[in-house]
Amino acid sequence: MKIYSFKCPACGYESKHTVGTPDMDQILTDVNNDFAQYRLFVCRKELTLVHADVLDAHFDNKCPSDKSELEPIDDPEHVKCPRCGNELKVEDIKPLAASDGSAE
Ligand SMILES: [Zn+2]
Ligand SMILES: [Zn+2]
Repeated sequence: MKIYSFKCPACGYESKHTVGTPDMDQILTDVNNDFAQYRLFVCRKELTLVHADVLDAHFDNKCPSDKSELEPIDDPEHVKCPRCGNELKVEDIKPLAASDGSAE
């Protein structure tokens, strides 16, 4: 699982999103209830990026807040700004901010 920070150099749009599957013990167990897979989408109505758990039974490709159809993003590292269409600056934030300076 990765957390991406998106910033648009042109219009100042900014957001952070979780993509992928949680790292916790997702080894082969017979309990799949906690399995989640976050994907990135664009909401054309709000002009914003949203992430959603595509394995959630309640998820049907609709924006949770306005029920409009979401547009999936295949490559989270190359995303166009939902507001102005410029290429967003993408940063991969480490969920565990452990090392700060030391290269261990
Ligand atoms: Zn923009
Ligand atoms: Zn929306």
